[in-house]
Amino acid sequence: MRLILLGPPGAGKGTQAKILVERLGVPQLSTGDMLRAAVANKTALGLAAKEIMDRGDLVSDEEVCGIVADRFDDKDCANGFILDGFPRTVGQAEALGVILADKGLALDAVVEIQADSSVLIERIVQRAKDTGGERADDTAETIAYRLDVYHQQTAPLVEYYTKAGLLRAVDGMESVETVAGAIEQALGG
Ligand code: AMP
Repeated sequence: MRLILLGPPGAGKGTQAKILVERLGVPQLSTGDMLRAAVANKTALGLAAKEIMDRGDLVSDEEVCGIVADRFDDKDCANGFILDGFPRTVGQAEALGVILADKGLALDAVVEIQADSSVLIERIVQRAKDTGGERADDTAETIAYRLDVYHQQTAPLVEYYTKAGLLRAVDGMESVETVAGAIEQALGG
């Protein structure tokens, strides 16, 4: 199964991706995790991306598409993958379409996890407390900015994938288990 999890920061994409990894036996591909690893390893990409990520902006389409395209060729992606946090712009979605088509592959579904901004800010502030402030971009100010970036640059993907006939929306305001059940149902049980 080749799946995209779409939704604003704090909607629960990472949490739901981990549940789907267990259920579907395919890996979670989180561009946020890949970029944070690049930052930690001080690679050229990491050094260039750090400041952009810390202020809550998006890393360039070209760089992000490059790291994802490489990952699709790994053995563990043979039966599919769950994309978490990618694509985040229409440009990335178009590039993804080309990358997959070149490999003779297609997406099965795009699950949009919907949640209100007020809850998202609360959840992320809580995540920052739980993880001891591990992420420089999990502050109340940066999260408000990241939500703006989501609405401006990523939300147009809802229409993009609706037109492609792939979008399934679920209510992300419920408990982790309820959302997981709704996703399972949206994917046809
Ligand atoms: P995330 O862990 O998905 O919230 O991503 C953390 C940060 O990494 C984002 O705020 C961006 O700066 C960067 N990032 C992650 N995924 C992407 C992407 N698909 N396109 C551009 N930037 C990204």
